[in-house]
Parts: sequence; structure tokens; C-alpha cells
Amino acid sequence: MVADAREETAIAPEVVFERGMDDVANVVVVRLNGDERGLVECVDGLDPPRPRGQKWVINISTQLGCPVGCPYCDAGGHFQRNLSAAEMLAQVQLILDRHPGAAAECAKLKVHFARMGEPALNDSTLEVLAALPALVGAPALWGCVATVAPRGREKWFERLIEHKERFYRGRFQLQFSLNSTSSRDRARLVPYPHWPLETIAAYGARFHGSGERKVGLNFALARDVAFDPQVVIRLFDPAHFAVKLTPLNPTTRGAAAGFVTMLRSERAARLEEATLALRESGFDVILSVGDERENEVGSNCGQAVRFFEATRAPSVETNVLREIDHGNQDRTQPPLG
Ligand code: SF4
Repeated sequence: MVADAREETAIAPEVVFERGMDDVANVVVVRLNGDERGLVECVDGLDPPRPRGQKWVINISTQLGCPVGCPYCDAGGHFQRNLSAAEMLAQVQLILDRHPGAAAECAKLKVHFARMGEPALNDSTLEVLAALPALVGAPALWGCVATVAPRGREKWFERLIEHKERFYRGRFQLQFSLNSTSSRDRARLVPYPHWPLETIAAYGARFHGSGERKVGLNFALARDVAFDPQVVIRLFDPAHFAVKLTPLNPTTRGAAAGFVTMLRSERAARLEEATLALRESGFDVILSVGDERENEVGSNCGQAVRFFEATRAPSVETNVLREIDHGNQDRTQPPLG
């Protein structure tokens, strides 16, 4: 199975659009199998101000469109199909090829399954996790899966534990995108059947092994969306879980649905109390405001594909558009979307 997946990496995705800043992230839109509608994104990213030799993040798509349809995400909706293992590995290879030899020198090379698509809904994601160590050849390869915990995928999650143990012991990061502590708000934000918090708490405690990275509980906080630290404290064990608070990044669909971020807003101060309560209960809390330039390069899910589709015109002479900021161009352009 693994060998098959690697052999198929001969599939070369066609780069049709690219936008970014070399010291933050470059988002690459690729066309799969010559299919006009087969556009997915992958990201060649850094963790500023760290150089690539210290940390390199390759973010890939797992589905063509996404059946979950989170209303704040530009990748939501228009689901066509799962990507094959070869199509996912080809995205990784594409980004690796941009920096020949860099993988072997990198102290932490993270392949993140968090672009277009919900990785747990695709069985081939596990094949890719198994094939990556041989493909990448990086001594410091990390696997990272961000998931909304879709219901009905219990077997997939059990196999994920096996894959972590076998291929990534001590080098794996699992993140649950919760976004709210209220089941009603979670249902609104993640309109797909998903595990209740209690199930995530029980699974994460089994997933997290001694000396391993704690399981992340991610909250991209928006106004008028419930976030009660007491729910986290009551349900989750800080020995196994860490809390990450991030801004809800600006997207076309998010703006249309009326979502406004909490972090980076005047209401951010309200989070201080919640953060304090979590820390006093033993939780690691990461306030990840990120780099504003990520919004400029449109490195939020689905933005680059949307932008490419909106700008695609018959008069464009080449089907390859490239807007790269190499550090000396005007950064005042408005964000995508
Ligand atoms: S946030 Fe993730 S799960 Fe939700 S629609 Fe976007 S890609 Fe799908």
C-alpha cells in the first residue's frame, strides 16, 4: 500500500497560481490531472522569524472542496472527492522541490494536513502518513493533523494512533478544531456530525503518550460564539491537552456570514480572564495571534483558489500567475477575499 502510494507520486500537479511572501508563506494553487475544476492549495510556509533551517511547514489539501462546510472557511462546500495518496504526496514533493536539499538540513519539517478538506474523512491520509518518512527523508519530520472530529470515523482515529506510534513517535501533533465550548455553536460552526467534547477528551487522553506533544484544542474565537474556560477545565485533562486561541481569520465566506474575530479586536481583553483561569488549572495556553501578513498572502484555507478563480480571465495570456513579494514590494495591498 505504501509502496503503491509512493510510486504514484509521478503525478505532477500543474501550478496555476502562486502568491505569497518568501519570509512568511507562499500559497500554491495546483490543478490535478488536468481537470479544470480540480484545483487545490498547498502552502510552503515558515514560522517567522525562524528561518527554514529551523522550522519549515508544508501544508497540504486532503480533499477537493470540503464536505464539512464551515461557514467561516473559503474551502468549505463544493466538495467533489477525496484526494488520492499520490495526489497528496505530489503536493509535498512540489514544495520540497522548491528548496532542493533543505529537508535534510531542517531542524523541524512539519507536514500539516490542514488545508482544503477534512483529513479524517479521507482514508488515504493514513497512507500518506505512512509514506512520508521515506519520501521526505528528513530526520526531523513531524506529522500534524487538524480535524473537526467527524462522527463515524472512529476506525480512522484508531488507525491514526497506530500510525503515530509506528512512524512518528514523539513527532506528531494532533489538533482538534473546536472553536466553541457550546454544542450549539459548534453545530453552527462545524455543520457536519462531529464528536461531542466528552468523546474528544477520552480519545485525546488515549492518543497522547508520555513525552509527546499534547493534543491541541484550537479555538478560532469569534464574537458572539461561546467560549467558557470552565467547560474546558471540567472536561479535559491538562496533562494531555493544551489550548490554542487564534484569531478567526478574514475570509469571504466568514465575512458574508457576519463572523468577526475576537483576537486582534477591542474585545481581546476579555480573553485575559479566560486565559488566566485555564493556566491556573494547569493548561498550557497558546495565544497565537500570528503574522498579519498571512492574511495579505491569503494563506487561509481556500482563499487562494477563490482568488484564482475570480481573477481567471480568457485574456490572461499565460495560465500561470505569480505574485510574489520578495521583501521589497508594497505590502499595503488589501487581503485576498
Ligand atoms: S475549516 Fe476545515 S473542515 Fe471546515 S470547511 Fe474548511 S477545510 Fe473543511
